[in-house]
Formats: sequence, structure tokens, C-alpha cells
Amino acid sequence: MEDLIETDVLIIGSGIAGGSAALVAADAGLRVTMITRSRDPLSSNTNWAQGGIIYKGKDDSPALLEEDIIAAGAGYCNPAAVAQLATEGPGLVKKILIDRLKVPFDTHDGDVSLAREGGHHLPRIIHAADRTGAAIEIALIEALRQHPNIALLAGHTAIDLLTPAHHALDRLRIYEPQSCAGAYVLDRAAGRVMRVLAKRTVLATGGLGQIFLRSTNPPGARGDGLAMAYRAGARVINAEFVQFHPTVFVQPGAQPFLISEAVRGDGAQLCHADGTRFMAKYSPEWKDLAPRDVVSRSIYFEMLENGLSHVYLDLRSTIPAERIHAHFPTIVAFCVEHGDRSDPRPRPGRAGRPLLLRRSVDRPGGAHND
Ligand SMILES: Cc1cc2nc3c(=O)[nH]c(=O)nc-3n(C[C@H](O)[C@H](O)[C@H](O)COP(=O)(O)OP(=O)(O)OC[C@H]3O[C@@H](n4cnc5c(N)ncnc54)[C@H](O)[C@@H]3O)c2cc1C
Repeated sequence: MEDLIETDVLIIGSGIAGGSAALVAADAGLRVTMITRSRDPLSSNTNWAQGGIIYKGKDDSPALLEEDIIAAGAGYCNPAAVAQLATEGPGLVKKILIDRLKVPFDTHDGDVSLAREGGHHLPRIIHAADRTGAAIEIALIEALRQHPNIALLAGHTAIDLLTPAHHALDRLRIYEPQSCAGAYVLDRAAGRVMRVLAKRTVLATGGLGQIFLRSTNPPGARGDGLAMAYRAGARVINAEFVQFHPTVFVQPGAQPFLISEAVRGDGAQLCHADGTRFMAKYSPEWKDLAPRDVVSRSIYFEMLENGLSHVYLDLRSTIPAERIHAHFPTIVAFCVEHGDRSDPRPRPGRAGRPLLLRRSVDRPGGAHND
């Protein structure tokens, strides 16, 4: 491999953002070089996503989706970005994920099956059991590998963006308008840094959950892209809004494991050890399907008020056992493996007793990041 690669488009990151950008650019006839830091290109937040991805519900419309997103965003969402997402998002999910990649989403009566999640007024989430992200990522990487215009380089870590401004010997260049000519990239197997020169560079390096003590995010979610963009002079805003999940299975020594919001979407309810529900107190309209910040703060208040280290999530009272196994096989398997040996199937003499999936929140509320 040369120490210099020249390409039309450099894409940094092989998750759903980088992968779909690569497909669109390559389909348009551009030469795409995609790099990803892990040796396994599947490694990403995308691969770990559980519950599903927003599509469109029955009697849904861009206006309804927009309304739900704006409400859940508590006044922080950029209206123009939300409008674009609500208008174009569902169509792109169909075009890229359903028609092009043929991701094996669950179906019902011959159509994609729709689930509901927090903050949504109607079911509009499509899913592949509780492994939706893996189903998407596997199909995506396969398509990228087969595309003649795409070179996919795994085990290559972008270190810094190549911008005339911040790498110039002339220090005054930093005051000129920014442009990006590619990136410095570490080829980990060869142990050397090379330059990738590109007409366009796309940063799609995912989140930064790993900067927090506890996170459901994979090890690679450490904010490389944000740091590179910041060093190159980009404005970083709203950095407090990191991707997080309110409900996580925590056990000393085990990796915190997400209990998907889709579980609450299916009817699971937060409660205390004695079965007392509490979400109606905080969100009479949405209860357990309130937006994530509301759910997290509610859990936090409950723990503070009652001097508790965790609360519980009850599936068994509200979701039939067969459905739990069919919809959430990964979550059930994890819980069984890590100590909660309660099988959600009704047992003689125990019918009606709720299955309490152990969950724990360490630092919930705004600062909680998992
Ligand atoms: C456990 C879990 C469950 C989730 N469930 C859902 C869900 O049900 N529904 C939903 O909509 N969202 C869900 N999410 C969020 C969703 O997964 C992410 O928002 C989405 O996958 C982000 O995609 P991305 O392409 O931006 O980033 P990622 O998928 O994280 O991809 C980032 C890529 O960049 C690479 N990279 C990072 N740094 C560098 C570098 N310096 N050089 C080269 N490559 C680099 C990584 O290796 C990776 O390939 C979940 C997230 C997690 C962690």
C-alpha cells in the first residue's frame, strides 16, 4: 500500500451513516475510500442497535413525525433539520434499507411490523427482533464490499483532518475559510501513518459514550470525529446531548447492557421491588413511554427519594412470555446468562408474579450517558 491514497470521497467510519453515504456516492460514479478503525468493519454503534429504526406508521405523515420529534427535543431541535428528517427519512429507509439492502426486518401480514417507542404517538419503528442494528450493518457491509467503486479499509484509524488552515506553516492561514483535503490515517497493521487526499471528506465516526464511566456504547465510541473536527476549527455545539439509554442491566464486573426502549414500547413498566409503578407520577400522558430525558430524570428522582441504587423493569405482568422470547431473544439470553435466572415463562405456583428484570442506574438524569 502506498503512503498516499487519492480518492474522490473519503468516508471515515463504517456504521450506518458512513455506509449509506458511501453507497450513495459510489452509485453516483464517485471513487470512494472508506476507512474504519476496527479490524472488523462491523464494529460500530450501528451493529449494537437493538430496538429498531423509525419508518412510517399507519396513517402517519411527516407533520406527525415532526411534531413528535420537536416535542421530544424539548425546544433544542433545529426545526429545519427535523423537517428534513421527517420528510426524507422514511423514504430513505425504504429506498436504502428495505429495497436496496433487503434488511430482514420483521413482518406482519406481509408488511413490515411496526413497534412503538418513547415519545412516539403511534407505532412507526421497524425492527429485526432486538438485533436490528446487526441486521442493518451486516447487509450494509456486504453491499459496500461488493461495490466496484468502494475500497473498504478496516484497521485504519483517522488521526487528523488534512486542512490547509491548521497544518499550514503560515500561521495566518487559520483565519481563512476552512477546507478539508482528506485525512492522516494510521494503518494499524503496518504501523505507519499515510495521507488520504480526497475531494470530499465525510466524518461518520459515531458517538462518544465511552468518555463516561458507564456506557452501553461500543469501545470505539470515543468521539474521534468530534475531536478532529474541533481541531480543524469546526464549531461543536450541543455536545451535552450524547446518545444514552435510561434502562441498562448493570452487574458488577459485567459490561453494562442495554435493555432496549422497545421493551417499554411493548408494554414493560418501570417499578420498585414491590411492584409499585411510578412513571404516571412524572408523565401522566406518556407514563413509561415518555421521552428518554423524562424517563431518566424520573428514575433518578425515585432513587434519590427512596435511597435506592436501582429500580426494576417489569415485563412479565404486561407482555406474554412467548412474545418476550420472540421479540427480545438477545435481552432474555443476556439476563439469563448474567444472573437473573427468572425465566419469563409462567411457572407452576408463580403465575402472576412479575418478572423483574434487574436494572440499575448509576448516574441518571441529564448527566447519565449510557
Ligand atoms: C446498545 C445500543 C443500542 C441502540 N439502539 C438503537 C435503536 O434501537 N434505534 C436507533 O435508532 N438507534 C439505536 N442506537 C443508536 C444508533 O446505534 C446510532 O445512533 C447509530 O448507529 C450511529 O451510526 P453512525 O454511523 O453515526 O456511527 P457508528 O455506527 O458508531 O459508526 C462509527 C464508525 O466510525 C468508526 N470510527 C470511529 N473513530 C474512527 C477513526 N478515528 N478512524 C476511523 N474510523 C473510526 C467506528 O469504528 C465505526 O465504524 C443504539 C446504540 C447503542 C450503542
